[in-house]
Amino acid sequence: MPASQRNPVRAGSGTARAVTEASQSLDDPLQYLKGVGPQGAQLLGKLGLSTVGDLLRHFPRRWEDRTCFRRVADVQPGEWATVHGVVIAVTTRRPNTRLTVTEVLLDDAGNALKLVWFNQPYMEKVLHGLQAARRTIVAYGQVKRSGWATEIHNPEWEELSEDGDPLSANRIVPIYPATEGLRQGRLRRLIHAVLQSYLSCVEETLPAGILQKHRLMGAQEALRQIHFPDSEAELVAARRRLVFEEFFRMQVLLAVRRHRNTRLMQGIPLRVDLDRLRSSLKQIVPFELTGAQQRAIADIARDVASGLPMNRLVLGDVGSGKTMVALAAMLMAVENGYQAALMAPTEILAQQHAIVLRRLLEPLGIAVELATGSQTGRARREVRERLIGGQSRVVVGTHALIQEGVEFARLGLVVIDEQHRFGVLQRQALALKGHRPHVLVMTATPIPRTLTLTLYGDLDVSVLDELPPGRKPVVTHWKPSSKRAQVYAAAQRLLDEGRQVYIVCPLVEESEKLQAQSATRLCEHIANAVFPQYRVGLLHGQMRPDEKDAVMARFKAHEIDVLVSTTVIEVGIDVPNASVMVIEDADRFGLAQLHQLRGRVGRGEHASYCILIADPKTEEGQARMEIMTQTRDGFRIAEEDLRLRGPGEFYGTRQSGMPELQIADMVRDIDILAETRETAFSLVDADPELTRPEHRGLRGALQRTELGSELIGVG
Ligand code: ADP
Ligand code: MG
Repeated sequence: MPASQRNPVRAGSGTARAVTEASQSLDDPLQYLKGVGPQGAQLLGKLGLSTVGDLLRHFPRRWEDRTCFRRVADVQPGEWATVHGVVIAVTTRRPNTRLTVTEVLLDDAGNALKLVWFNQPYMEKVLHGLQAARRTIVAYGQVKRSGWATEIHNPEWEELSEDGDPLSANRIVPIYPATEGLRQGRLRRLIHAVLQSYLSCVEETLPAGILQKHRLMGAQEALRQIHFPDSEAELVAARRRLVFEEFFRMQVLLAVRRHRNTRLMQGIPLRVDLDRLRSSLKQIVPFELTGAQQRAIADIARDVASGLPMNRLVLGDVGSGKTMVALAAMLMAVENGYQAALMAPTEILAQQHAIVLRRLLEPLGIAVELATGSQTGRARREVRERLIGGQSRVVVGTHALIQEGVEFARLGLVVIDEQHRFGVLQRQALALKGHRPHVLVMTATPIPRTLTLTLYGDLDVSVLDELPPGRKPVVTHWKPSSKRAQVYAAAQRLLDEGRQVYIVCPLVEESEKLQAQSATRLCEHIANAVFPQYRVGLLHGQMRPDEKDAVMARFKAHEIDVLVSTTVIEVGIDVPNASVMVIEDADRFGLAQLHQLRGRVGRGEHASYCILIADPKTEEGQARMEIMTQTRDGFRIAEEDLRLRGPGEFYGTRQSGMPELQIADMVRDIDILAETRETAFSLVDADPELTRPEHRGLRGALQRTELGSELIGVG
């Protein structure tokens, strides 16, 4: 029965509904709680809180240990501190018509601290009252030293009423996200009251076995301790339990989704003889596969043999050799009499793949078809006929592959290269050309492990965490713009030796058009004033695809020495003779993006360089440049990027359909995330519909989420 029927709410009845034990529910609206009323409910609504359950999950933003305060005598400038003292003076100044400064002097055992508020004239009255009564207030903020005075500007503060309000003193005190008109003290009392009367309504949704195995605090105790911890240790344990629960639910949803997408479907069982495959690869591939490549190939062999459709992501830094993994997978399909299709985001990449695959596969008598958008008329028709007729077993292409009219005789495997350039829908469109073909997606975007567990949480993942031997590392330098002339001189020396150079333009975020204009200007400058004796080319996003391809092809053929480009060169292109990349205004790019760009050099036998030109103003900006010069590990860079900028910056996190995290932190809590993943996936393997009695609570909780209601049937 829905809560609204259980607890009829008569609008306008004017009397608070008496709450009795039996009728209580977490869905009870806050308005009818003692001391809330319509006005309070409106304020709580501003925080997104409308029911008792919402309020119980309104977690503190931080906690203050008020069992012992920092003494004013001990605080250091720069430190964030909670202090307290008696209000002894209040003054307001108006240095000019636009500015009011209210200052309060606190006395903490003979040491003075000044609190300063700007443009909050109403503070004066409030504080005068406190001064008259010689009340003690608690203040939190960053400590500053100004002359002899110790100050906190715009502090968070509240009255400390030792006997009146035991919730705000002598304990670890929760500090909540609050809103104007709803102060900490009131919120705190309200949550405390709700805990008293409603905690017994909170159900345990984690199965007992999991609680025990992972040593997790019970649901009710965790809620009590997260709001009003008895000690630091209890707080830590409570938070761990709640974070675990949040991640666990997310992972169960992902596991259910994967189950739906793969486990319930009939796949194409392929027979794979791994030893034979290895020896054919040995015949055709001119180098030893890395251990990581071997492992990924073994993962794929297991998937395609299982009778279920494969859904695997190969995650490998630029240059880690993903193409060979794709090749092995394609061989598996072809040897079983199926067709394999590889889709790449650009025409030039598709061509590059076709060249590589032809060279390797033709000795085995396997022809490689190329299907791109620039084909027209007869050529296009013939390609299509060979695909539907089944004569072509391997095809490489662009979006042209997913167009109408392209059909396959027996499509068994779909490989999507540089997956982040395609949407989920395009990925599916190609898979729909076959009957449940195996799907392999590959990406060079180093994604932090946390995000693979969420963003791609319903795919199986193989990581290529090993670069082929003998790679020359790209040496990265960071130079201020005042040193640009020296940078160009160094590039000139390498040009003189016959190398090629990329120059990446500053990022113009406002529009593609402005970006193109600035690239054009930079190109003219480079061609006329910097390297007039060399052939300079230009590449930007406003050019037509065939124009772009033509420029790339000329650069590849060394008909261009210096390529001035926007980030369109970011993806996959392989020009081994290009050994220098200069990135202008590098601090405006994301770290992951810089890393992608840098991956364009260092692909040949020559020593390679990446020069970041940047004058970052902030410490964070400087830190980012330092990281780039220090590490070549794409995954570390991605983790740093995530830490510095937050997950919102990564494409796709928002569209993943997952509920927003309330308490867990993707970066800080990664270990807990990993812990929940295995637990969740094995739970769903054992009980895919969550129908066992011990999973009832979990099932109910998930059905109340948007994604859960879609995935988990009622009844
Ligand atoms: P990715 O697509 O992962 O960026 P590629 O598949 O384009 O990388 O491979 C990059 C380069 O490394 C190619 O020139 C490829 O021939 C070479 N390569 C791949 N695997 C190996 C290996 N095991 N040993 C040596 N070179 C390799
Ligand atoms: Mg590649």
